[in-house]
Amino acid sequence: MAEKTALDEAVERQYKGLSFDELNALYDDEKDHISTDYDEWFGDMDLAEVQKQERKETAEELERIFRDLLAFVFYLYVEGAYEYAEAMTEAQQQYLALLDKASQNGVNVSDYYRNIHVPYKVSEVVNTMLKHPENPWNFTIDRAMAIAENEANSMWNNADFQEALASGKTRKMWDAIIDGKTRDWHAEANGQTKPILEPFEVNGELLQHPMDDSYGATGGNINNCRCAAKYL
Ligand SMILES: [Zn+2]
Repeated sequence: MAEKTALDEAVERQYKGLSFDELNALYDDEKDHISTDYDEWFGDMDLAEVQKQERKETAEELERIFRDLLAFVFYLYVEGAYEYAEAMTEAQQQYLALLDKASQNGVNVSDYYRNIHVPYKVSEVVNTMLKHPENPWNFTIDRAMAIAENEANSMWNNADFQEALASGKTRKMWDAIIDGKTRDWHAEANGQTKPILEPFEVNGELLQHPMDDSYGATGGNINNCRCAAKYL
């Protein structure tokens, strides 16, 4: 039988006596990481350089928000607390403040995104930690980074759609980058064209734009998607 690692022992005693930083130090092996370097992640996408840079900067801000949330929930979990509402409210407020700042710069997301997506995402992030504390990755900075790269794309894809609507675009096309990481059904959706207000149909689900969850699209269509939409 394999030797128990320090991480195994920490999980066994439910992280008691461990700080957030100490947990992350136990999780510093690159091979256990899931997030991708932001330059590589956004660099692969079919976007202008300035758009890649904007998404990267948003991801860095979101990383701080979700890292703080994970650290707060980790602390509460180890303390045996059962009340997580304050941590969630704090993260929601920070996420909404980020959207307000974007809006001041003319970048607007939908009301759905602000009022439904943001609180849903924050509660999903926390619920996953509480339901699966046996998976230490759920509490790590690497997870905050994986969430941040997904949320940055989600936010900008939504804002790009609002912008296209506002500027009178009438059609849209699903634009997948085709490489070894692309899921088959997104490669298949590549080039799908729709009137701008009609959702794309991808693997049996509807999405107004890549990463849109407003029609109930699930993780199989959303998680780690690097597709974009072209507006015509
Ligand atoms: Zn995709």
